[in-house]
Amino acid sequence: MQSVRTCALQSAPHQVDAIAIAAPDRSPLTYAALARQIDAVVGDLGQRGFGPHSIIALCLPNGPEMATAFLGISEIATAAPLNPAYSEEELAFYLDDLPADLLIVPAGQMPAARAAASAAKIPILDLVFDPAAPAGTFHLEGAVDFTAPPAQASVNGGPGARNQPDDIALILHTSGTTGRPKKVGLRQRNLQASIASITNALALTPADRCLNVMPLFHIHGLIAALASTIASGGTIICTPGFNAMRFAGWLDAHDPTWFTAVPTMHQAAIERLARQPEGSYRGRLRFVRSSSAALPARVHAELEAMFDCPVIEAYGMTEAAHQISTNPIAPGQQQPASVGYATGADVAIMDSDGNLLPAGTSGEIVIRGANVHDGYLDNPDANATAFTNGWFRTGDLGCLQRDGRLRIEGRLKEIINRGGEKIAPLEIDAVLLRYPQIAQAVTFAVPHPLLGEDIAAVIVPQPGAEIDINELREFTRQRVAAFKVPRHIVIGDRIPTGATGKVQRMLLAGQVQWQSP
Ligand code: ATP
Ligand code: MG
Repeated sequence: MQSVRTCALQSAPHQVDAIAIAAPDRSPLTYAALARQIDAVVGDLGQRGFGPHSIIALCLPNGPEMATAFLGISEIATAAPLNPAYSEEELAFYLDDLPADLLIVPAGQMPAARAAASAAKIPILDLVFDPAAPAGTFHLEGAVDFTAPPAQASVNGGPGARNQPDDIALILHTSGTTGRPKKVGLRQRNLQASIASITNALALTPADRCLNVMPLFHIHGLIAALASTIASGGTIICTPGFNAMRFAGWLDAHDPTWFTAVPTMHQAAIERLARQPEGSYRGRLRFVRSSSAALPARVHAELEAMFDCPVIEAYGMTEAAHQISTNPIAPGQQQPASVGYATGADVAIMDSDGNLLPAGTSGEIVIRGANVHDGYLDNPDANATAFTNGWFRTGDLGCLQRDGRLRIEGRLKEIINRGGEKIAPLEIDAVLLRYPQIAQAVTFAVPHPLLGEDIAAVIVPQPGAEIDINELREFTRQRVAAFKVPRHIVIGDRIPTGATGKVQRMLLAGQVQWQSP
């Protein structure tokens, strides 16, 4: 059987001498060299006995070697990228939960991951690279030979065979924004469907250069930035991860045509770039993309003003191999606070009894399609409620407008239930953000002895601004019903985020110091 590459490299419209991978302070890697690197990884792992269904955990810093390691491993086995910032205890949990057959770590680094793998008797291979060599070139060192137990052996020709469309090419845990992270297995065909819908929607070509600031242990960076760029023959610039101080330098040095990020990163980037002379960044990018959390309308407008290009907000999740819907790329077609039209997957709105609702009605967003996973791994409890009549229940609330555009109204689990009155935190965030002195606002539930839950918010003032809480309450009161006005408002200097830059509303209640209302 012919092998199918995760990123459809052989059919990508690239030139062999075009640059596939670039990185700050490194020499670039051509498509021909990338193909050799991928073949080397596949050959080495195959010879060591790994193949489809071997679960290979990666604990690598963000960067070009992480990118090429993922592209190679996802062709022959199941890649399971882990956040290198995890503690030994967390890594022990993830290695066991996968369960990993192998761990790949950079030579001489990642002591916590090594210790966790050793304790669990999981073999380790060192990734060795030369910083003077083209970005992303490496080899694996270590005396590891793998003998798959019969239950895990591949159905596709034994160890060393390449993945087929039904094989799980990637395992990721969800971000853990609303609870314990859930284990998602994405088949090669799920990844390919998501990649195709992203490259089409963004009209990516070999002339595009994507600046990747997203972590490569999360679906957003892996699929929207890395895999979509490689599948369309463009260049991916692999940074060590988002850094507001270095962002301007990367734009200047690498001249990207686009980047994709979560809203908290966009906000931090804008604050920094605003220190340059007005107009410095206009017309430099083809578009800016935002996904993984709601993009506040003000940040949307600031990005548009800063770059003078379309700002494309998309809706994605791990269980859908990232993209579910997106705003169109055509200039003038983007709507703030809308996540645009379904791409690839079908999107519908369902009530709690499993009935599909007509356009214009709010309910739970449900999805089905070639990019959508077919069930959490080893988690019958979650699967028992995750699917209804073939639709995957996203846990997100939203509304499909009559023109087919989707609006996200929040997450079911984050809805604040104040003595029976339901309050969507996103709605209150948006009102608070209209107050000119506020830079960031996050609304969430706090326990209340009589009501069950009450409504609270953390706000971060604009640099140098003073906020009068009573005046802010009055401002909010004029725009929403009295029961929706936050009872507790705490001024903070930053809002804590999870590993992927997302606000974990449900953890905030335990993290802020309360002042009496
Ligand atoms: P967990 O499922 O463990 O609670 P998580 O849902 O944050 O974590 P991800 O798969 O990384 O894990 O994120 C998907 C979620 O991110 C979506 O279900 C949705 O709630 C949110 N999201 C993604 N894009 C957007 C967007 N453009 N606007 C609002 N929310 C978004
Ligand atoms: Mg989720």
